[in-house]
Amino acid sequence: MKAGDPTREAGNGKYPTTGQISVSCARSGAFLPKGTVDLFRGEKFVYFDYALSQVLSDVITLGIKRVVISYDIACKYNINFHKRISHKDWPLMTDEEREELKAMDIMWLVPKFHLASHVDDCQDRYSFNWTVNVGRTCGEIVEVNWASLNLLATSTREMGEGYRKDTLNDAKIDANWRKAINEGMGRHACVIILFELMCVIRTSVVENV
Ligand SMILES: [Zn+2]
Repeated sequence: MKAGDPTREAGNGKYPTTGQISVSCARSGAFLPKGTVDLFRGEKFVYFDYALSQVLSDVITLGIKRVVISYDIACKYNINFHKRISHKDWPLMTDEEREELKAMDIMWLVPKFHLASHVDDCQDRYSFNWTVNVGRTCGEIVEVNWASLNLLATSTREMGEGYRKDTLNDAKIDANWRKAINEGMGRHACVIILFELMCVIRTSVVENV
């Protein structure tokens, strides 16, 4: 058993859902459409593969040519990403999308706080500080999103599946709406503008929600 093994199981199987992952814009913090997936019995690469491939499909449609993906274990996760989404039995993208993805400039980085716990070899290769055109992005913004969502955990853990999903969905839409209002522009416009400058995606996990 190892991280990323699709057959790996964690937890005691008592709960139908043990957490959730979401993909958000690393600049605005907006939750991205189709980027949320429930976890069942542990954190496996396959959940991230699905969420990320859905978001990347939209990125391809928008014509973006450069994407920076910030993920706590990007150094390991990125190694077989293209191979996994091209699986012959359950491909996560169409042939056309995968061709476009290969032509894109995809950069994998580790968020600044998390990078400190990686081995020396990762410190240079996956550092925002050593990457051009990312500004002072920390890559950790999704942690801020979880801070508010985690307050719902004691309520959602007792809910049925439908109520739980509706509640979390409402909370994320509300978070996006409040960002849009506070930034003085529509959320969609905000995300598009950021995408045009540079698409920085951040993925992470929240447990027990
Ligand atoms: Zn590493």
